[in-house]
Amino acid sequence: MSEDRVKKILIVEDEVSIAELERDYLEISGYVVEMAHAGQKGLDMIRNNEYDLVILDLMLPEIDGFSIIKAVRDDVDIPILMVTAKKEDIDKIRGLGLGADDFITKPFSPSELVARVKSHIKRYDRLTNKNEKKKEISIKSLTIQIDARRVLVNQKEINLTTKEFEILLFLAYNPDQVFSKEIILDRIWGIDSFVDTATVTVHIGKLREKIPTEFIETIWGAGYRFNI
Ligand code: CA
Repeated sequence: MSEDRVKKILIVEDEVSIAELERDYLEISGYVVEMAHAGQKGLDMIRNNEYDLVILDLMLPEIDGFSIIKAVRDDVDIPILMVTAKKEDIDKIRGLGLGADDFITKPFSPSELVARVKSHIKRYDRLTNKNEKKKEISIKSLTIQIDARRVLVNQKEINLTTKEFEILLFLAYNPDQVFSKEIILDRIWGIDSFVDTATVTVHIGKLREKIPTEFIETIWGAGYRFNI
């Protein structure tokens, strides 16, 4: 599944420990997660970024979750999963006709949250056909012909191993995001494989010798980023 674009989720939650727990579970499940711990920041982040789903706590400092939904619902059509500690809130959401996609009451199990997130993202993808695969990625001197599994630099074909190709495609599908060696290992080799992160380093080293070095940048202590 290394060719899929990684989904980005925003968690708006003022209880930092809960937000971090949610983040950890979602990251293990392969999502990229950003967090906001107050209402205004959450609202700004929803407006200024493209998320695939928002997990929105209702009781927040500054601006509460109800107001955030009201403010963004007309412009943003991504799934919003509301989190509430109070059963009464659910009636309030329904009463206001806020168009929240789903809600989950605290306390909930992280695995239930992940399951809900997965099903909403899948449903949204089906509705919008966002998963339609591109046939070719072309960035500056680099062209990746996905179905043909061919890579060209300045229109000249270069030879990549299967793993090098998969790493390049994964990074190119998700530009301007830093991925740790552990995440790359998980996405390309799978979590049960016997290789370790040193293998990732070796493969990326070889890949960088074959394509212009500007594309894959090493971010010290964090991982790798594909620049466009
Ligand atoms: Ca709260």
